[in-house]
Amino acid sequence: MCKHILNAQVSIRSPCCRQWFDCAHCHAESQDHELKPTMEMVFACKKCKKCFRKDMNEFEESDEFCPFCDNHFVIEAKEPKPRLEVEGDDVRKDARMIKDDRLKGREEFTIWDDEGEAARLG
Ligand SMILES: [Zn+2]
Ligand SMILES: [Zn+2]
Ligand SMILES: [Zn+2]
Repeated sequence: MCKHILNAQVSIRSPCCRQWFDCAHCHAESQDHELKPTMEMVFACKKCKKCFRKDMNEFEESDEFCPFCDNHFVIEAKEPKPRLEVEGDDVRKDARMIKDDRLKGREEFTIWDDEGEAARLG
C-alpha cells in the first residue's frame, strides 16, 4: 500500500515502465528514471480491481468515478503527517534523505571550488 497517499482509490500505470503505482512518489522511490507524463492515464480501481483508461485532456467531473463500480477515485489525498520518529526501515530511508540533502549543499560548494576552471572556460 502506498505510504504517501493513505486513501488512494486507484493505482496508476506508469507509461514509462508500465508498472502499477499508487502515486508518483512510489514511482520515484522504486525507479531511477523520471515518470513520463501522459495524457492518457490507465487506472486500476482498488475497489473493484478493474482497469480503465482516461484521457486527461477531456477529464470531466463524471470521470472522477470508476466506470465499473462508481467508486469516487479523485479525492483529496490523505497524506501521512510528517513525524520525527519513524519505525523500521523508514528510519534508514529518512536518514539517507536527510544526508542526501546535506550532501547536496556540500556539493554546491565543491562545484564552486573545483570547477572554477570550467567557469573560466565558459
Ligand atoms: Zn517509470
Ligand atoms: Zn506513494
Ligand atoms: Zn471500481
